[in-house]
Amino acid sequence: MDHRRCPRDNFPLTPTRFLNLLMDACPQCDGTWLDRGELAQILGTRYDVDPRHGLQEDDPRGQVACPGCGTRMVARWFSPHKRVKVDRCPACFGVWLDSHELQEILKESYQEKHEPQVAVTGKGKRYHRPDCRLLPESGVETILASQALERGLTACRTCQP
Ligand SMILES: [Zn+2]
Ligand SMILES: [Zn+2]
Ligand SMILES: [Zn+2]
Repeated sequence: MDHRRCPRDNFPLTPTRFLNLLMDACPQCDGTWLDRGELAQILGTRYDVDPRHGLQEDDPRGQVACPGCGTRMVARWFSPHKRVKVDRCPACFGVWLDSHELQEILKESYQEKHEPQVAVTGKGKRYHRPDCRLLPESGVETILASQALERGLTACRTCQP
């Protein structure tokens, strides 16, 4: 018997089909619980959460119990783009997504495959090709072109990304 409950509102989770997967979803808040490997399966990636850049954050949102094993989860960025924060269990490696987050992750993953990546610095007003010679040695961040535009940055005249 599956007695998994929603970490947000304690409602019993219900098996819900998504693409070719059977996931546990909360009928109350629309959140989703994904066992280890399921998010990677949906996205066609190697990892559920990017292990290099999905840095751990000390965020109060992660202080809820894992629906799978009861361990306190940790909030992490899904990817280096820092758009979507997810709760991940450090013990069983399942991932909890709030209602809109799966859609946002799918959107980000689509953009990542189809949009150019550009390089920016903390204070710079321009975005660059990742190999632009004007970029400093350190403090460079790689983001999606659409994110650079959202931040109001303009294209570098030297490398013309
Ligand atoms: Zn819920
Ligand atoms: Zn767990
Ligand atoms: Zn440049």
